[in-house]
Amino acid sequence: MRPKEYLDRKIETATAKETAALQQGLLASQLDYLFARSEFYREKCRTAGLRRKDFRALRDLARFPFTTKEELRASQAAHPPLGSHIAANWHDVIRVHSSTGTTGKPSFVGITRRDAKVWTRLTARSFYTQGLRRTDVVVHAAGLTLFVAGLTSKDAIESVGAVFVPLGTGASEKALTIIPLLGVNAMHCTPSYAAYFADFVCRAGMDPQELGLKKLFCGAEPGAGIPAIRAKLEQDWGARVTEGLGNADMAPIIFSECPEQSGMHFNGPDAVVVEIIDPQSNDPQPGESLPLEAGVTGELVYTSLQRECVPLLRFRTRDRVQVLGTSCACGRTGFKLRCIGRTDDMLIVLGVNVFPSAVKDVVSSFHPATTGEIQIVLDTPGPGVAPPLKVIAECCGEPAASAGLKLAIERKIKAALGVPASVELQGAGTLPRFEMKGQLVRRAYENKAAVSAEAQS
Ligand SMILES: [Zn+2]
Repeated sequence: MRPKEYLDRKIETATAKETAALQQGLLASQLDYLFARSEFYREKCRTAGLRRKDFRALRDLARFPFTTKEELRASQAAHPPLGSHIAANWHDVIRVHSSTGTTGKPSFVGITRRDAKVWTRLTARSFYTQGLRRTDVVVHAAGLTLFVAGLTSKDAIESVGAVFVPLGTGASEKALTIIPLLGVNAMHCTPSYAAYFADFVCRAGMDPQELGLKKLFCGAEPGAGIPAIRAKLEQDWGARVTEGLGNADMAPIIFSECPEQSGMHFNGPDAVVVEIIDPQSNDPQPGESLPLEAGVTGELVYTSLQRECVPLLRFRTRDRVQVLGTSCACGRTGFKLRCIGRTDDMLIVLGVNVFPSAVKDVVSSFHPATTGEIQIVLDTPGPGVAPPLKVIAECCGEPAASAGLKLAIERKIKAALGVPASVELQGAGTLPRFEMKGQLVRRAYENKAAVSAEAQS
């Protein structure tokens, strides 16, 4: 292997024993800091009957309680602006990001200068793993403001020595002009945007391949790892598609895919301890994690190792993942996974768990007969759904003349996902396109409630 195949060879190719030793030392220091500085965790551990000395080895982490997003929100509401889980002094905080949850109220995440340095290195390592090099010109067609992966991606891409072009969102027209003028050869965006922008370029009478993008770095939602969606993006753009995965509360990008394209490597053993747990585990009771072996599926749980502002212990991400492997031809030793969806997006039909992205995967596999765009229609709030699952899919031919296709998709959903579905076909381009994250579920009951409230007023 040539010396520059990795940004941080020692960390990226460490043996399991070396990684465990590194993490054990860092976690001991992080816990010293946490017990000394975090009112939130002192109280939480006291309630659980745990003291600092109860952690002696990495395996003792399983004795500690989980932390949930709901707890962080409550802590922030009670102790503004950043919550009682902030462990740094406010005057040491240099930047604040936020994520908008389902409630619409922002949840803030602060970072210190040192946190920013760790985030930048970890993010740079992830981009490098995806094939970013200093000769690249990267257009950032994603959020740049409060979104954690905006400014951090800027710092990371610049630190590798590549050119960062801060396009932002809602600027497809501008992108069409800028990309050829600057010789842009890579794009960082959501997979929804990569698909949306390909459509946009076609509508402008051009072939997306004329723009010359060779590397698509995707993230922020599952999609780029779904085989049929990836194949379509690669075909449309003539580019290699790789994906990354992070978390607003922990770090912008923690996993990313190497050019082998066989799942995202865990890239941050010096910043985060990763566990996978059974999503049915009770909050906030501690529980053993599942082995990190190929085939294991569950919820991702993160513990920070070097965080100053918001160190988190066993933070439940609600990201549902599957481990794909523990070795790779690229030489990286970090295990590989694919994100299946959010545990809170999961639907249950006749007792079977169904992720909207899995339904999209099945429908996309019929391409070119389908465009791959879908919406799942819910008449009542999930996760329980009365069968059959209602799916609207776009077909490329005349919907009325595609009865065979409708049946074939229904049969394949049943075979692949184990649930009965009722598929309605619509013409290409009729479903809404999303520039940022795609929305695969249409909550029809919300519209009904709004209409009836209007009727009553
Ligand atoms: Zn690899």
